[in-house]
Amino acid sequence: MSDTTRPNSWDARAKQNSFFGFTDLPSIEARGTTVLTHGEGPYVFDTQGRRYLDANSGLWNMIAGFDDPGLIKAAQDQYARFPGYHAFFGRISDQAVMLSETLVEVSPFESGKVFYTNSGSEANDTMVKMLWFMHASEGRPNARKIITRVNAYHGVTAVSASMTGKPYNSVFGLPMPGFLHLTCPHYWREGQSGESEADFLARLVAELEELIANEGADTIAGFFAEPVQGAGGVIPPVEGYFDAILPVLRTHNIPIIADEVITGFGRTGSVWGCESYGFVPDAIISSKALTAGYFPMGAVILGPDLSDRLQRATDIIEEFPHGFTASGHPVGCAIALASIDLVLNGGLLENVQRLIPRFETGLARLAQHDHIGEWRGRGLMGALEAVRDKSSKTPFESELSVSERIANTCGDHGLLCRPLGQSIVLCPPFIMTDAQMDEMFDKLSAALDQVF
Ligand code: PLP
Repeated sequence: MSDTTRPNSWDARAKQNSFFGFTDLPSIEARGTTVLTHGEGPYVFDTQGRRYLDANSGLWNMIAGFDDPGLIKAAQDQYARFPGYHAFFGRISDQAVMLSETLVEVSPFESGKVFYTNSGSEANDTMVKMLWFMHASEGRPNARKIITRVNAYHGVTAVSASMTGKPYNSVFGLPMPGFLHLTCPHYWREGQSGESEADFLARLVAELEELIANEGADTIAGFFAEPVQGAGGVIPPVEGYFDAILPVLRTHNIPIIADEVITGFGRTGSVWGCESYGFVPDAIISSKALTAGYFPMGAVILGPDLSDRLQRATDIIEEFPHGFTASGHPVGCAIALASIDLVLNGGLLENVQRLIPRFETGLARLAQHDHIGEWRGRGLMGALEAVRDKSSKTPFESELSVSERIANTCGDHGLLCRPLGQSIVLCPPFIMTDAQMDEMFDKLSAALDQVF
C-alpha cells in the first residue's frame, strides 16, 4: 500500500517516470507502488517508514540481507582501489582473476574457465552463443537447437526468453524457432490420472528420446535446466529426474547446462543445486547469490570438456566475438569473493542447512489449509499452491487473483512474498533467524485465513 493520494507522493512520482515490467499496471494504479529506501538484515523499509520482512530475498538474490558490513566494505574498498574495468583484449582485473580461480575451485569441475556477464539472462545468452560457436567450429553448424522445459525461466533477452517456457513470451513472437520445450517435471500437476511417479518419469525420458530422434541429435546444441525450477513456481523435479535424463543426453553427446542462477551458492542446502541432485553438468550459469545481490553480475562457469572445446574453437574459427563493457567488473568480483566467503566460511550455508527442517515444517503446516493443494520445495525455496478444491486439485478460475490477493494481504501484514501463477513462493535470505522464520509463517498464515 502506498501514499497514492498526495500528488507529489513517492507513489505518484514512481508512476510518473518509471515503467514497471512484470507488473499488472491497473493493480498498482489501485494499490499504489511500494517505494523502498533501505534495509536492515532481512527487513526492508518504505518511504512511509513501514517495515517488511522480505521472504523473497529481494528477487531470490539478497541472501545476506540488506546491510551486510563485509559486503559493503568489500565494495567500498574496491571502489577506492579500482572502480571499473572490463575483461577483454587480454586485459582483466586482479579481482576477476581471483574470482575465476575461486569459482572453478568451488565448482563441481576439476578444471574450468569462467566468463562474466551483468545478469543471469546474459549468462544464458552467452552460453548459447558459446555452444553455437563451438559446434560450428567442430563442423556441426546445424547443431543450433536448444532444449529446455515448460515453466522454465532462463531470462528476458530474446534468446533466454526463448529458452523460458512461459506462455507470456508469445507477446514478443517468442520463442524463436529451434527452442524446444519438454514437459515440466512436476508430478503433482503433470502426472496423469493413475500414473505413478515412476511411470511419469519414464514418460519424460521417452519424450526426450523421441524429441532427439525426431529432431536429429546432430541438430541439438544443448539442454538447459534449472535444478529446481524457480520462477515457474518452485518446482523440484520428479524423483530420479536427472539420474534418468543424463544418460540419454550423454549417449547423444548433448551438453547439459545447469542454470543455477537461483540454486547456486547454497539455496538448496548444498553449494550447487546439481550437487543436491547428484549430477555434474557440463557448465553452470550463475548470478544472484554470486554477489548476494550487491552488484549486478552473472557468470558462465565451463567444465573441462566445454572449456577445452571452446579454446580449440577459437583456434579454428577466430576469437570469440562476445562480451560486455562491464564483464568481470572488479567491484562485482570483489563483492562476489566476499559473498562466496560468507556462504562457505561465514556460516551462511550452515544456517541454510540448519533452517531447512523449520522451513519445511512451516510449509507443511500451512499446506493443511483447505485451499492449499500442495507444498513443495528444496532447501530454502518453497511454494504453496492454492486450489479451489483440494482433492481434485481444481485451481481457482482466475489463477492470478488468489495468489496476488494473498501476497497483497501479506504486504499489509508487513511480509513480502511472491505470487507466481497459483502459488505463493518463499525464498528467505540465508541469514534468517528462527524467530524471523516463525514471523514469516505466522504472517502468511494470517493472510491465508483472511483471504479464504
Ligand atoms: N535463470 C534463472 C533460473 C533465473 O531465475 C533468472 C532470474 O530470475 C534468470 C536466469 C535471469 O537472470 P537476470 O534476471 O539476472 O537476467
